[in-house]
Amino acid sequence: MSGVNIQGLSIKFGHNEVIKGLDLQVHEGEFLVLLGPSGCGKSTLLHSIAGLIDVSGGSIHIGGTDMTDAEPSERGIGMVFQSYALYPTMTVEKNMSFGLRVAGTPKAEIQRRVDKAAAMLQLTPLLDRKPAQLSGGQRQRVAIGRALVREAGVFLFDEPLSNLDAKLRAELRRELKLLHQNLGSTMVYVTHDQVEAMTLASRIVVMKSGVIQQIGTPAEVYERPANLFVAGFLGAPA
Ligand code: ADP
Ligand code: MG
Repeated sequence: MSGVNIQGLSIKFGHNEVIKGLDLQVHEGEFLVLLGPSGCGKSTLLHSIAGLIDVSGGSIHIGGTDMTDAEPSERGIGMVFQSYALYPTMTVEKNMSFGLRVAGTPKAEIQRRVDKAAAMLQLTPLLDRKPAQLSGGQRQRVAIGRALVREAGVFLFDEPLSNLDAKLRAELRRELKLLHQNLGSTMVYVTHDQVEAMTLASRIVVMKSGVIQQIGTPAEVYERPANLFVAGFLGAPA
């Protein structure tokens, strides 16, 4: 298990500073939700934690180690993105184990992890199927399973449910919550959906234009919004 400590983080695309001197402490084992309107920098922040983009300034520590310039594979994280690009020719089992096979994980260990993740995500009966033979919700479970088998201390989710219909979203929300309770890992979860934020988060970070507006429990940000933007965004009376 591990937390994430972000200090003075700046990310620029050309002259456009998208993350502006951001400080954020993600506590070990918490479910932190990043909430904010489209374009406010949620994905950029997540990608920087994952090591997928270079930072322009500041630092990112994961589990107490400075990972600001570390390769993605060195960071001890699992990621789930909105577009769950599964390998169409591979079975569910192969899709889930692919990253571990590339990393040279021993076969028996791969088997143990895939079986465990499949059981958690109700994928055990589907392990021999190909993605085309799965529903949208099942495919997204495989994408989550692919991250879980890394047994990482930190999981990053970027709007993982936004392509699903309302009923499936509600179902997977409940599963994600259970998963977090079972694993005890640190979760950083991006969404622009308030219901997801309210039901999943131990704490919510509300962002606007690359700047944190408020950090608090769902009850705190909803009942005592720090400013008009937060109040308006959550639809609460100002
Ligand atoms: P969100 O995930 O909150 O919708 P993003 O982090 O995707 O927001 O984007 C934040 C801002 O950064 C947007 O203005 C977007 O256009 C810009 N941006 C994101 N990625 C890039 C990139 N690779 N190159 C240039 N600009 C980018
Ligand atoms: Mg985004």
